[in-house]
Amino acid sequence: MSFQFDHRQLADEMEIFFLNEEIGAGLPVWLPNGVAIRESLEGFMKKLENKAGYQRVVSPHLAKGSLYDRSGHLRAFGDNMYPPIKGSEEGEHYYLKPMNCPHHHKVFSSSLRSYRQLPLRIAEYGQVYRFENSGSLKGLSRVRGLSQNDAHIYVNPKDSKQEILSVLELHEYCYRVLGLKGYRYRLSKSDKNRPNDFDGPQELWCESEEILRQCLTEKGLDFFEADGEAAFYGPKIDVQMKLNHGHEESIASIQIDFNSGEKFDLSFISSSGESQRPWVIHRAPLGSHERFVSLLLEYYDGALPGWLCPVQLYILPVNEEHLSFAEDIASKLSDNGIRVFVDHNLGSLSKRILFAHRLRPLFKMVLGKNEISSGDVSMQGRDGDRIVNLRHVSDFLLKRIAIPE
Ligand SMILES: [Zn+2]
Repeated sequence: MSFQFDHRQLADEMEIFFLNEEIGAGLPVWLPNGVAIRESLEGFMKKLENKAGYQRVVSPHLAKGSLYDRSGHLRAFGDNMYPPIKGSEEGEHYYLKPMNCPHHHKVFSSSLRSYRQLPLRIAEYGQVYRFENSGSLKGLSRVRGLSQNDAHIYVNPKDSKQEILSVLELHEYCYRVLGLKGYRYRLSKSDKNRPNDFDGPQELWCESEEILRQCLTEKGLDFFEADGEAAFYGPKIDVQMKLNHGHEESIASIQIDFNSGEKFDLSFISSSGESQRPWVIHRAPLGSHERFVSLLLEYYDGALPGWLCPVQLYILPVNEEHLSFAEDIASKLSDNGIRVFVDHNLGSLSKRILFAHRLRPLFKMVLGKNEISSGDVSMQGRDGDRIVNLRHVSDFLLKRIAIPE
């Protein structure tokens, strides 16, 4: 854990994203190096979720106001939504979606559901838009357009504890692989003094808060409780981490929702043949790409783990005559799934080696006549140098960019 630098400075040097006034405040454009990180994270999550029984959907970026009326977002979250857009000839209004939940509820109700299909886990890397105050916008960590590692799990209420335990396990696994430490969990409850801010009967709040408490306790996780931090539709477990400014912030959450079943008229046929309401679990272990990549950049001071590194090998040909040899090697390595950058600036080598640092590559390799004639190259890594024969460079790198188990 480092947090020495602001992610905006790191992202600038590493060419991760940019913001442009003409495009709009808080609407980052991801550059190829940033996309490499996003896609690695996304590929990792999709594989995990696939194994855990999630099914993927893709939903549109906007929907009718009536959908958000029904979900309660217009009432509880309206200030954070973009103003309505005229979306039909009849003058009906549409909104950019601030959350994926209502769309996923519609996926659930799009066909008749039986208890045998539950838990039904619907996942999407969903793009959402939030009208954040311009003063609070900050690089990638506070934006107006973001892509969430989202999923909604429709569960028989009696099985919700078991499912929350699995979701917690998934969180712990992700953070272990990503090497994240120094976070703790927060049980975010309603505030009994502000009942209007929290939908649904008191007994259900108590019951579901107790389920979350039991899950955290059984898993032996470090947690504390906080009143008034719940979502308006149910209590949640937040993952809290101290970021570079020293403040503790939520990086992800797991929410129990016993309200949306009623609001969206969701039902499944129980084992006794009766119609029953499911509960919904909202979860996003990696939050949004925007927020999570900003966190990872600061956490690692840009020196990301090998599998997430945008540049896994940075090749520096000594001069022009070594360039095509370097391009050949790069092309073979990239066929094997390794991300390689070849430096075409053929000035002073020592200056170029120093400059290479801005991209925080996993390894650097200088390629000149000695290396080409002997076949042995020096792989300059973060923990020192290793001599590797060119025939083995691919295997050497593949081992170092594998996702840890
Ligand atoms: Zn949700």
